[in-house]
Amino acid sequence: MEKRVAVLPGDGIGPEVMAEAVRVLEVVGRRFNHTFHTEYGLIGGAAIDEKNNPLPKETIELCESSDAILLGAVGGPKWDQNPSELRPEKGLLAIRKHFDLFANLRPVAAVPSLIHASPLKEEIVKEVDMLIVRELTGGLYFGKPSRHTDQSAVDTLVYTREEIERIVDKGFELARLRKGKVTSVDKANVLESSKLWRKIVEEKKVDYPDIEVEHQLVDSAAMKLITNPSVFDVIITENMFGDILSDEASVITGSLGLLPSASVRSDGLGLYEPVHGSAPDVAGQGVANPAAAILSVAMMLKYSFGLETEAAAVEKAVNTVFEEGHFTADLAGKDQRALSTKEWTDKIVDEL
Ligand code: ATP
Ligand code: MG
Repeated sequence: MEKRVAVLPGDGIGPEVMAEAVRVLEVVGRRFNHTFHTEYGLIGGAAIDEKNNPLPKETIELCESSDAILLGAVGGPKWDQNPSELRPEKGLLAIRKHFDLFANLRPVAAVPSLIHASPLKEEIVKEVDMLIVRELTGGLYFGKPSRHTDQSAVDTLVYTREEIERIVDKGFELARLRKGKVTSVDKANVLESSKLWRKIVEEKKVDYPDIEVEHQLVDSAAMKLITNPSVFDVIITENMFGDILSDEASVITGSLGLLPSASVRSDGLGLYEPVHGSAPDVAGQGVANPAAAILSVAMMLKYSFGLETEAAAVEKAVNTVFEEGHFTADLAGKDQRALSTKEWTDKIVDEL
């Protein structure tokens, strides 16, 4: 297979973890006989510094001619005082919008050797393996009117049938690649938009007879995520519910430096990035944990290129290296030697 990948390292630890993610991608290419062409583009603060624009048109063109996008992180104190159109985060919002990346995917799975880092009890966490599928381009965050005065304020929650159908289809398709269960999260006892959402899930499930479907109200789902998170496989939900639940879920397994994410649309194009930000406090020291960026490569292989075996090999390498007791500074114990970003990736490369 031959694919083109746009690499947007961004700011802070972004370039450090992206360099290692690309190295892993190249190793996967060699081992499994694929050619991945990587080309670099500017985004965020780095793009503001060079082009006075957080998402320059050269970057958009690069992404348009690519099969997938890998992104590091954007932002940092250097640009905090910039006017709003020159903020690094604008680049990220703009690229999601430009490419209509309506589905945000966040897997949360227990890593056996890191369960001690979870705030929850081991027996609650150890079977956790879920994927949250959040609608990203509609709902309450984009509804008009949206305004406030001193005396009143309004936000609007609108979903069209088409917007709901495409995210629901995405969730069902992803469940087929996993354990075959979909939990649709809504507030159908109160919200009209949720009533339509639930109706469409019921219509759609006829097309996916192999998938088990359940509905849950968002308040109850929030509770289950803490009391019994291993019951979930794929969760599909609207934008704001997904925002809240995915942050809640991200703490279950205990470490921000481990979590990858994807923002995708129906034709396979996707943007893959670590959940963590640019971590300015550790940037430039070569100590950042590259696991989230490397696992984002695994998501790209699986969801944009359909390379499930290759993705599983990367995930397995990460688990094995942790099991062997190799950690970067964020995870190493007090009396353990922490590996640098590069040294830890060397272990992954050896494993692959
Ligand atoms: P943003 O606003 O960009 O999301 P944030 O304030 O949420 O940023 P992050 O950059 O996500 O913060 O990280 C929070 C802290 O977690 C960092 O300051 C850093 O100490 C730590 N951290 C995050 N990611 C990593 C990583 N990959 N390796 C090591 N430490 C990390
Ligand atoms: Mg953050």
